[in-house]
Amino acid sequence: MTYQPRPHYVTCSECGRRVVRHEIDSHVCEQEQWLDDQVVRLRSEIGRFEADLAAWLQTPQGAFERYYAATRRPTTTSELVLAHVPTVR
Ligand SMILES: [Zn+2]
Repeated sequence: MTYQPRPHYVTCSECGRRVVRHEIDSHVCEQEQWLDDQVVRLRSEIGRFEADLAAWLQTPQGAFERYYAATRRPTTTSELVLAHVPTVR
């Protein structure tokens, strides 16, 4: 029988930080650490975003959204304000 020591640190499944094993239950993730970990975890998706968006914009739904955005986008500040004023009936 061989002795295999348990590691002193474990990795937080939420933020990826290495935490002393006996402190994992009281560990609170730091928002910045969590965000950095999310960026690392989603790196491939983030890298594909522009290509995926360009491909989606070529679909019928994407073409409609391009048309809708181009025709519905306010061109002046007053149009922008009026677009958000509720109408009274
Ligand atoms: Zn954490």
